[in-house]
Amino acid sequence: MQDIILIAPPAAGKGTQAKLLSSKYQIPHISTGDLLRSAANAQSELGDIIRKTMESGGLVTDDIVLKLLEERLTKDDCQNGCILDGFPRNIAQAESYLKLLEKLNRPLGDIIYLDANKEITKKRIIGRLSCPTCGAVYNDQIDDNKPKKFGTCDICNGPLSKRADDNEETFEKRYKTYMEETYPLLNYFANKGHLFTVGSGISKERTFNEIEKIINRGRI
Ligand code: AMP
Repeated sequence: MQDIILIAPPAAGKGTQAKLLSSKYQIPHISTGDLLRSAANAQSELGDIIRKTMESGGLVTDDIVLKLLEERLTKDDCQNGCILDGFPRNIAQAESYLKLLEKLNRPLGDIIYLDANKEITKKRIIGRLSCPTCGAVYNDQIDDNKPKKFGTCDICNGPLSKRADDNEETFEKRYKTYMEETYPLLNYFANKGHLFTVGSGISKERTFNEIEKIINRGRI
């Protein structure tokens, strides 16, 4: 299987689609946000820098992200493909990524843009709750997505928590960062003939279906 790269505004459903793909196609889900969140937990100067940058809604520097990504991509479980969620985030990262692929002798996979409008993504962010134990994600502002019991995970009964950067103020900054830094990637990859667009505003099942048509094209 080729790598699948998901590009989208904050809370457009990258994490949800990546989990669905990972479970169906048995390839790892690599979220640079998750890699950085665990690096930010370290009691070190680097951990502090990462945490502060993430809380501000800005991007962590490319060298830190690239190092974490290279370490992850060279693990055995990535050798049959992976799903990249949240990377690349700007043109410089895309260029470094293409060099890294060359070094690792790995082809550039399918780049899928999840298109969702700003008001929908804002609602998803403000209400987003996740389970730190099993990774399930809920939303207390969207009826179909609320946990059955307030504050508790339906799957493992663990307590749900809110990400520090999931608030309206940080959302606006993250959205601005997305438009300035990440959005230009769409043209960049379209020019390389590797970009596919999928609507991600209606239902996760419909979005997943569209993604599957893309990654399985030519196989049936
Ligand atoms: P995410 O979990 O993808 O929403 O990312 C959360 C935050 O982690 C972002 O707002 C950035 O601060 C940081 N981050 C995640 N991926 C990257 C990346 N590829 N480059 C720089 N910063 C990133």
